[in-house]
Amino acid sequence: MTCKDCARSIGHEQYRESLDSLSVALCERHTRLIKRVILNNNTPLEAIQLFYALKEAGANPMLEWWDGKRSVDIAISRVKLNIEIDKDYNMITHEQAINDLEDAMHSFKNGFTTIRIPHLAVKYYLEDTVQNILGIISGLKANIKAI
Ligand SMILES: [Zn+2]
Repeated sequence: MTCKDCARSIGHEQYRESLDSLSVALCERHTRLIKRVILNNNTPLEAIQLFYALKEAGANPMLEWWDGKRSVDIAISRVKLNIEIDKDYNMITHEQAINDLEDAMHSFKNGFTTIRIPHLAVKYYLEDTVQNILGIISGLKANIKAI
């Protein structure tokens, strides 16, 4: 059992503790760091799960990346891709909906692509979600080269 972040070996108790609270196996230090990130940014657990799955897949993701205006759940800076986890479609207000679209427009103008991923996709189809994001990354890479 090792920490998904620093690869340090962790005991059974720590393994259980981090899996139960964050759904990712992390050492004591990284559990604390991630919990602070969640507290400061209201980061959904699915973003943490997806972040570590993308890291494992070699995508070099960044968690809670500050784009100058707001914090993005996950960013892949190499291809200027922002990934936001949508928490609950039923909970979204009409203001939130139009604000999200406006944010997406602004980041698009600055050369960033924003994709919103429903939290259920991460929860139930983590592998497929990662594969699709890797596909988007290689598509964006191809576009960058084409310009
Ligand atoms: Zn660690």
